Amino acid sequence: MTRWRYAVGTDQGLVRATNEDALHADATIAVVADGMGGHAAGEIASALAVATLVPAFHEDETIDGLVRAVQAANAAVHADGSADPDHAGMGTTAIILALTAEDSGRVVPTICNVGDSRAYQLRDGALRLLSRDHSVVEEWVRMGRLTAEEAAVHPRRHQLTRVLGVGPVVEVDVDSVAVQPGDRVLLCSDGLTNELDANRLASLASPPMPLEDAAESLVSAAREAGGHDNISVVLLEFDEVEEAAQPVHRTVATAPVATPGPHARARRRPRRITWRVVAAVVLFAAVIAGALGVLRWYAYSSYYLAGDQGFITVYHGQPSGVLWFPPRRILSTTYPVAHLRPVDRRALATTIPEPSLEAALNYATYLNRAWHLSRQSLAASSTTTTTTTTPTTTTVAPTTTTTARRGAGG
Ligand code: MG
Repeated sequence: MTRWRYAVGTDQGLVRATNEDALHADATIAVVADGMGGHAAGEIASALAVATLVPAFHEDETIDGLVRAVQAANAAVHADGSADPDHAGMGTTAIILALTAEDSGRVVPTICNVGDSRAYQLRDGALRLLSRDHSVVEEWVRMGRLTAEEAAVHPRRHQLTRVLGVGPVVEVDVDSVAVQPGDRVLLCSDGLTNELDANRLASLASPPMPLEDAAESLVSAAREAGGHDNISVVLLEFDEVEEAAQPVHRTVATAPVATPGPHARARRRPRRITWRVVAAVVLFAAVIAGALGVLRWYAYSSYYLAGDQGFITVYHGQPSGVLWFPPRRILSTTYPVAHLRPVDRRALATTIPEPSLEAALNYATYLNRAWHLSRQSLAASSTTTTTTTTPTTTTVAPTTTTTARRGAGG
């Protein structure tokens, strides 16, 4: 079993209007969170992260449980920041030391880190940094572009590359810590480390100074050094220690948490009918109406003659109809189909198209007269008189052009 004692201290500092740091320590987990965001959102982010993280870890005090707790904290801060415009973009660092249970049954110290709050180990008066800052200048130091001394005063030293709650997923460093009884571990926000160098931290935090006094001294010293930022410390001392059988050193990307945050419902917007949707519907309706109009125009663009119940009948439309537009029966003439020349009866059987109602009626009359003329011609030839039919021919003259057009005349 690993056991620790702890002391905590926090101060607003001399410059900041509020304390946006949050901290917590108990028998199995210690956290320092440094919030950021306008309109006091940083204060909300750090408090929400700690309030979510701690009970989530107590549900499952393993390394996996710790990562899931960080994941839950990230999701909670992200959901709140997404739902409330005043909290948009808020986030927080989190440096966590937890006693995690291994499969071996041992309970061992593990550090979890996002951002630039730090964990130091103190042994024999010497200070060792256990965490890695997730900041732009720290990346540049690793790349050799800056020295540690240049990074400490660089204007971009506060620009972070990882922050809890800003996105749906965050990468977390998870590291086992090898400690001995009597070792101390200091968790702190950058309000402490920006004011005090490593030697000063070591001298104030190390034994024989009692834990509570040491924590208080650290905060006071940072205030006296300028107090430009909020200052928070958790100082722990190990009484009993178990060494990790399966030490862990890895960076884990947390998965998005499906559980919605407290304001997630408010984030969902009802679907709205936009002007684009209205325009698309109107355009679609116009195209359909236009197509139907063209079809209807074509369907009723002509007339035709056909036989119906023994008489020549006039129809409006196309003989076989067009989709939803069938031909309409306009009128039935008094001309019997039986009083047509054989060639005209055959033409009528397959329908005779005409461009207008007037033309249809004229042609029906012509067909009937043509039959009468052919009858008279037959009668005259039988009495050997051949000149009397000539004047009658001129009577039919107005429609002869129509007859010639079809080639159906007798
Ligand atoms: Mg800070």
